[in-house]
Amino acid sequence: MKIVIVGGVAGGASAAARARRIDEHAEIVVFERGPDVSFANCGLPYYLGGEITDRKKLLVTTAEKLKARFNLDVRTLSKVDRIDRKAKTVLVRNLQTDETYTESYDKLILSPGAAPLRPDIRGVHFPAVHTLRNLEDTDKIKAVIDSGITHAVVVGGGFIGLEMVEALVHKKIHTTLVERNPQVLGVLDQEMSTPILQELRKHGVNVILSDTVKEFLPADNGVSVVLEKSGTYPAGLVILGLGVKPENTLAIQSGLRTGERGGLIVNDHLQTNDSDIYAVGDAIEVSDVVSEMKGQVPLAGPANRQGRLAADHALGRTKAKYRGTQGTAIVRVFGKVAALTGMSEKMLKKRKIDFRSIYIHPANHAGYYPGAEGMSLKLLFAPKDGRILGAQAVGGSGVDKRIDVLSVAIQARWTVEDLEEVELCYAPPFGSAKDPINMAGFVASGLQRGDHPQLSFSDYLAMEQKPYLLDVRDASEFAAGALPGAMHIPVDDLRSRLAELPKGQPIAVYCQVGQRGYIATRILMQHGYNVVNLSGGYRTWLLWQK
Ligand code: FAD
Repeated sequence: MKIVIVGGVAGGASAAARARRIDEHAEIVVFERGPDVSFANCGLPYYLGGEITDRKKLLVTTAEKLKARFNLDVRTLSKVDRIDRKAKTVLVRNLQTDETYTESYDKLILSPGAAPLRPDIRGVHFPAVHTLRNLEDTDKIKAVIDSGITHAVVVGGGFIGLEMVEALVHKKIHTTLVERNPQVLGVLDQEMSTPILQELRKHGVNVILSDTVKEFLPADNGVSVVLEKSGTYPAGLVILGLGVKPENTLAIQSGLRTGERGGLIVNDHLQTNDSDIYAVGDAIEVSDVVSEMKGQVPLAGPANRQGRLAADHALGRTKAKYRGTQGTAIVRVFGKVAALTGMSEKMLKKRKIDFRSIYIHPANHAGYYPGAEGMSLKLLFAPKDGRILGAQAVGGSGVDKRIDVLSVAIQARWTVEDLEEVELCYAPPFGSAKDPINMAGFVASGLQRGDHPQLSFSDYLAMEQKPYLLDVRDASEFAAGALPGAMHIPVDDLRSRLAELPKGQPIAVYCQVGQRGYIATRILMQHGYNVVNLSGGYRTWLLWQK
């Protein structure tokens, strides 16, 4: 068996190593057009920001090490130019000599990745305007940073854009972030991105939302970045973090089918429309675990798992099947962390999938133990059966743990009632006896069972006829800020002041994070009032205030 792999980084290197572990006798050839294989592309922003100081650490392995340990024939600076599916050969160009030669295969695994987008605007090819994908890009960007520039502009507020903003600020460079959408981190629902926006501003980042670059003009020591609406900014360095496009020219030229957004279409075994050619990683279209709809999710975890799985299947482990992708992702922005898994509210709305949402604002560990940090967690689930559809969290420590647990729950097709029963490790420095995961389960199950009627702020804000609004917090909390038009009765006084409330009218109660609102809701329900609790309370309301 001869396996040829195109692309030697995340998906390609995983496929190659796995193939060797499965079959000691297979011939395995990896072509990588760059000078490095298996480098840590996810680590590049941290090297540029100075947290990773040794460039060598980014080289997870080398062609020589892969030869020694796995007996892999890794050929760097070798670009595959063409696939001849009939002859089952690839045409390879040696980029050092420009010579070409053919190499045969029994099974071909494509992992060519995706290239950063560079929109067709004036000046986009000026030397100061960079994208970040590999070590060559990194070296160029580092040289500019080290030259002592004072101003930079990052275009695009997604994962890579935000990581680069943080890196540049660490390097004491005055940084402007330009984002076309009215929010940063567009994968999150808008309100969940608010703490990240605030954190960027807190660290002096000039964040410009709802605007885009019109053109780049030449300037001394860099460029002038001209925005459509908000003026012109000088920059010694521009980073474009505008997303990626699958690198599928080679595949398309050889008649392999792609979907609407250019990703290669593969079956559950990651085979293309040619069963001897597999495709993995950023180059393919994947099924969403929840909606089963097709999409593009360029993440390292899926690429690595897919590489492994394609190798299994190619080597006769025919049960190997890809389960789909959930888009589980995380980013750190200075002192804040945002993470998500599954579908967002906007995706659910776009795809017309019924959902309910709840918000909680727990601490990462017992509040009485020093160093507790708050987080906001949003859980989305199906009204019909409580199946978990998605989750997002923003805060500090412990966000990763909760989203990882919820990611597993989504893959296991759990419902919110299952979350009530989850048993997680607990001691005060690590969690709470009722972990945020349990709390999310209690709150969502209360809604499902009708014990705890709730209203999300997105539904509240969309209501033309607003309910009677009742704030049940303490007087000092109410005085410090409340929802417009709210009446105030602290929860402890509620039973004695019931007569002040309108019986026939819908009432929405709220407190700071939802818990006292829940108690008030239970009291009022049992006294015959038509009441809901505004999910997550005033803290959730603040997420809507930019
Ligand atoms: P790649 O890893 O890009 O590998 C594809 C390789 O194929 C490239 O090296 C390319 O040179 C080579 N190639 C392409 N065409 C040919 C050809 N014709 N012949 C020979 N070689 C070819 N994901 C996360 O989940 N978490 C993160 O924190 C994260 N951070 C990131 C930070 C940065 C700066 C970048 C760029 C990406 C980050 N990602 C992250 C995304 C993650 O790196 C990708 O999803 C993953 O690398 C995709 O793997 P892949 O094998 O499909 O493509």
